[in-house]
This record gives sequence, C-alpha cells and structure tokens, in this order.
Amino acid sequence: MKQGDGDGYRALLEARREEILSKARQREDLWVVQSNEEIEKVQLAGEREFAVRALERDRKVLLQIGEALERMNYGEFGTCLECEEAIAPKRLAAVPWAAYCVRCQESIDNREPAKAVNPRLAA
Ligand SMILES: [Zn+2]
Repeated sequence: MKQGDGDGYRALLEARREEILSKARQREDLWVVQSNEEIEKVQLAGEREFAVRALERDRKVLLQIGEALERMNYGEFGTCLECEEAIAPKRLAAVPWAAYCVRCQESIDNREPAKAVNPRLAA
C-alpha cells in the first residue's frame, strides 16, 4: 500500500462512486417501468425531469471522482488545479473530489452562469 496522503480519501471516493452507481442502476430500473406506463407519463414528466437533472449531477460527480482518483495515482491529489496551492483538508473532507481550492472554485462558479444562459432568451 502506498503510504501517506490519499488512502483515506481513496476509500471515501470509491465508496461514493459505488453509491452513485448503485443509485443510478435503481433509477434505470425505474426508468423502464415508467416508459411502459403510457397513461402516467404526463404525471411522471416532472419526476422524470428531476431524475434527469439528478442523473446529470451524478454523472458530473462520477467524472470528478474518477479524476480525483487519477490525480491520486500521480500524487497530485489535494492540490488545486488552478493555483497549485494545497486544498484545505476541511474542504477535502466535505468534497473529497474537489479539484480546486475554495477561492478558485468560487471564481469558476462565478464564470459558469454566463455559459448557462440560453442564447435564445438572451437575445
Ligand atoms: Zn486554487
């Protein structure tokens, strides 16, 4: 076993990944059932949209977890990708797959809404 840093986090990341994957599998089952219930489709549309959004969020987290595990392999885990400062342990405890320190994450979050704007609405 590699000594030091990431081992506790690795277990944490892998557990979280497993959790998301099993949740996703359950959701897929639900999805199939829903598709067959034509009559209830309208009522379920809202739920479905919620599920889609949850799915997108999960997919994003899965991706970030994969990247965090990869960084761990290179011994770069816990280092901000933007400013290369160490990410605060408190932040890693809350978000083990964090790729950026709080400061950089905030400036990234501030950039994002501009991308999310629907060009048709903005026109
Ligand atoms: Zn940073």
